[in-house]
Amino acid sequence: MRYPRLIINLNKIRENVRSIVSICSKFGVEVVGVTKVTCGNPVIAKLLVDSGIKILGDSRLKNIKLMKEAGVESRFMLLRIPMLSEIEEAVQLVDIFLVSEFKVVEAISRFSKSAGLKKQVIYMIDIGDLREGVWLEDSLDEIIEASKLEGIEFVGIGTNLGCYGGVIPTREKMEQLIEIKRFLENNGVKVKIVSAGNTAALPLIERNELPEEINQYRIGEAIMLGTDATNNRIIDYLNRETFILEAEIVEIKVKPSVPLGETGRDSLGRIPKFEDKGKIKRAILAIGEQDIDSKGIYPLDEKARILHASSDHLIVDINESSIDYKIGDKMSFLLNYSALLRCMTSDYVEKVFLKGDDPSG
Ligand SMILES: *Cc1c(COP(=O)(O)O)cnc(C)c1O
Repeated sequence: MRYPRLIINLNKIRENVRSIVSICSKFGVEVVGVTKVTCGNPVIAKLLVDSGIKILGDSRLKNIKLMKEAGVESRFMLLRIPMLSEIEEAVQLVDIFLVSEFKVVEAISRFSKSAGLKKQVIYMIDIGDLREGVWLEDSLDEIIEASKLEGIEFVGIGTNLGCYGGVIPTREKMEQLIEIKRFLENNGVKVKIVSAGNTAALPLIERNELPEEINQYRIGEAIMLGTDATNNRIIDYLNRETFILEAEIVEIKVKPSVPLGETGRDSLGRIPKFEDKGKIKRAILAIGEQDIDSKGIYPLDEKARILHASSDHLIVDINESSIDYKIGDKMSFLLNYSALLRCMTSDYVEKVFLKGDDPSG
């Protein structure tokens, strides 16, 4: 067996998808299952589809291609605004595009039409988070123009909150989108889909505050991790232990907690902070920033504390731990979104499915 490894608990992910689909469907909200944090892992993608998800969303064409080639049967949404240079390939792989630039819609229209296809398009509107989207006031004329293009079917509008600006989705924000829908419909443009949310917007459903016009959420983090980073919470009706990282100890020594000598920056150009606790027992694990975000992993041994990581070494304070660690022992960690993202992306981390896990449910 190789280490580090990431143990994927399909049963816990399945329970998360089912809970999310069930609460969203009570509010007439269709769930797009977002696969990007797992790099489009086909086993996980199939599980989402088998658990009631009809559209999979990913930001990268390569992931969508991987899922399609592995036989995942679903409609696919491209979450990132496509690059002009990838649109010719994208019209062959993607069913629904999120867009925010007229030039891009024109290119989708052109390639789609010449391939004899018709691609669905959702216009992203920026209502304040400052990532993608046409600025609210400028959106109307542009969408009306775009909806007339051939080779595309304009199906709706969407927004993304809580990603750059960390703006919290509220009922007021949702109502701004609905105003746009009304305006467009008064101008003869049908808006079937209002794709308003990601994980950060789940509280609107939980608190029964979601306007009924909102009918699609694109959800990744809640399904995969049971957490909601924007609102800084663990979602109590979901499973948290969906992915567990294991790394192996290669050194255990008692050393001072503050470096000796003049200090500059660390190997990655950062300035680490040191707390003088005298001599402490520390373990070095064979994993590093190339595989994880060391600020986003949490030891299952609650008395262990992560001190720092360089590209290939993770240093853990085990001074207070009640476990008598030995060289070669493994330590286990939960991950946050950014650590999971890096872990799934790292070729150096083995991905294994929990034994006894039934992929068919
Ligand atoms: C990643 C992404 C999502 C999913 O967000 P989560 O916070 O993981 O639920 C939704 N929409 C877009 C456009 C995204 O890029």
